[in-house]
Parts: sequence; structure tokens; C-alpha cells
Amino acid sequence: MLKTPKLRFSALIFKGFLFSLPYMYAPMPNNKQKPYASNMLPPPPTSSHLSSLELDYVKSKGGDTGSTLLKKYAYRITQNIKRTISGDVTNDPVAKQYLPQNCELKILPEERLDPIGDEMHSPVKGIVHRYPDRVLFKPANVCAVYCRYCFRREQVGPKGEKAPDILSANERTAALDYIRAHPEIWEVILTGGDPLVLSPRHLGELMSALHAIDHVKVIRIHTRLPIADPARVTPELISAITTQTNRSDSGEKALYIALHINHAQELTAENRAAIIALHKAGISLLSQSVLLKDINNDADILTGLYRELVALHVKPYYLHHPDLAPGTGHFRLSIAEGQTIMQKLRGRLSGLCQPTYMLDIPGGFGKVPLTPCALEPLADGGYAVTDYQGHKHTYAPAVERKS
Ligand code: SF4
Repeated sequence: MLKTPKLRFSALIFKGFLFSLPYMYAPMPNNKQKPYASNMLPPPPTSSHLSSLELDYVKSKGGDTGSTLLKKYAYRITQNIKRTISGDVTNDPVAKQYLPQNCELKILPEERLDPIGDEMHSPVKGIVHRYPDRVLFKPANVCAVYCRYCFRREQVGPKGEKAPDILSANERTAALDYIRAHPEIWEVILTGGDPLVLSPRHLGELMSALHAIDHVKVIRIHTRLPIADPARVTPELISAITTQTNRSDSGEKALYIALHINHAQELTAENRAAIIALHKAGISLLSQSVLLKDINNDADILTGLYRELVALHVKPYYLHHPDLAPGTGHFRLSIAEGQTIMQKLRGRLSGLCQPTYMLDIPGGFGKVPLTPCALEPLADGGYAVTDYQGHKHTYAPAVERKS
């Protein structure tokens, strides 16, 4: 019997619900497997498969649900993130980060599909080798949530059959071979997408392979998972990423996790517990934030965030100036405004709480610090030094002394 349109619609909603179940338990694919083995759930939804409940939620929070918008950029939000939203996209700093808005369809001339030029530095799929001593290794291009300002928004998110969500076994082998063949690679940064959406087994295998490479001394994981979905920071996941680190026969490798968080409102009791669990497992924790207009471009808000993080054993690492990703003009502010905020933070926060304000030069030329310099060179070789209250002082030139 043919389905009526209403029935077809209900079936679509049900399919969307099934698709939204965890995709992350997919096993590591071998050469013959597709990324999702037959005994696993189907791949995650494209945004056009959102359930009516989810569409209603987005609308209730002032977001837009037009099909062009939802097809263009992936949408996903977790229950944990929903619990941190108390207002809507007009006034809530968390809602603004995740809920789709029609203004994202406005693409400005300066915006780029690949704002930081990953592609031009990618020798093999999944690897970005921009600086001599380190590589980005991207095993997955999906995330637990999708941030509307994401600098890789054109790349991340489910893309269907043509672009699997995780590297195939052959691609993973080629990426690892590249790292093995380049002894100058001292640090590997697992990023994505979010590498921690992979199953613990998959992660454990990746970590083992990296630990077996002698010249790799540092492994860093960039993730939003402890903020987006702290329930998934399980003992199994922690064990998968730390077991090799603690093995004396594999050599000591330093393990860092850089958490992506932009506002203290994103911290719930569950998030805090997940962060503390990572700390107790011996992992060094850093934070990365994006300076976002009408979300956290305020010295008070950032002071609150950084104090919370340091108290949770997380060292604020980078505050990123927003990249020129398509449709993200409404999140950007001027560099001058960012520098003024940094100046205010210098007066309020200890060095431990200070991140470095960074710009990724558009086009793939690397990062540069934007944190304002307190030094001004003087003609006599000395310096004018500005203190945190804006007062100037002189610093005498160095005098050569005979020994
Ligand atoms: S978690 Fe990271 S990679 Fe994923 S959407 Fe957000 S910013 Fe982009």
C-alpha cells in the first residue's frame, strides 16, 4: 500500500529520530568496511532530516528552520547544551552559538570557504601540515554539536555517501604513514570535526598508532565534547586516550586536551565533573575560545569564564579572533575591540588566567598573536612601558658591562 503524504512525513520524522541516535559507536572501518558497518545504526542525519520536535525547539528559541539554511550548514545540539540555554537567539549567549539564523545566508565578499587555508597544506587526506614541527590530524569531520561560527563549517557535518564522516582505514593508514615519514613532526593535534566523537576502541587504536611513532612527543586533542555532551566522557573514553600515555614501554608522550568553550554559562555540574575526571586522569587541560560579538566580547564575561576554567585546572590558551567563514559576519568584531578587551583583562586577571589573543591569517599563513604589546621602543634603546592602568613608565636601555 502506498503511504499517504502524512504517513510519509511521519516516517521521515521517525527516520530522523533514529538517525540522531549516537553515530559515534561506529567501529574502526577496515579496508572492506564502509564507515558504518551493517550492524551499526545508519549514519547521522543531514540537517533536513530533523525531527519536528527539534524544528519546534529551534523555532521556540528564535532560530530559523528554512530548508536552504538547514541544508547548507549542519545543525546539532545536545540535551546538555539545551539545559544551559535560558533565553533565545536575541539574548542568550549559548543559544546564539548553536541555533541557525537566516543571517548566515548572507555571504560577505571577504569570507572564504576554507578561511585558514587547510586545503593548501594538506599532503594527504586528514592531515594539515602548516608548521614544520606539528600536524593537524583530522580523523572525523562530525561533531556532537555544530557551532554556527565554525571556521570549518563548510567541511564539518554529515555529507552523505560521497563524504564519509570518518577516515577510512586506508586513509588513516596513509595519514599515519605521513607522520611516520616526517621525523620533524614533534606534535600531533587531533582535531576535526571532534575526534572524541569516535568510539573508545577507535580512539584507542589511533592513540596506540601515534604512541608507536618515536619522534612524536606530544599529542593534543581539540574537543568540544566535555562541554557539549559530558556524559560521554566515560571511564572507557578516558582510558582509551590515556592508557598508552601511561605505558612505560611506549615512551612518555605528553597528552593535552584543549577544550572549546566560550562562556561560563556553558558550564554545568556535569561539565565540571567531566573536566575534573580528565584532570584526575593526568591529562593537561587547556582552553580555546572564540571572541564572538554579543556573546563574550566583554571583559567581565571573559573574566568570569577564565576564573572558572583555572579553578577547574584548565589553563586558558587561545582566544581566537573569529575567522572569515561564510555567513558568520554577525559574529565578528574589530581587532581593535578585541585588543581593548585584552588590555582590560591584563589589569584584572593573573597571568595564569590570560589567554593569547590570536588571528589565523586568512589564506593559510598561520597564526599571529594580537594581544597588545605594552612596550614602545625609545630612541635611546630603552622602552616606554604601559602598565595595566594605562600609565607610562620608562625602562632603561641595557648597558654593556665589562666583566
Ligand atoms: S565543535 Fe569545533 S569543529 Fe565542530 S562545529 Fe564547533 S567549532 Fe566546528
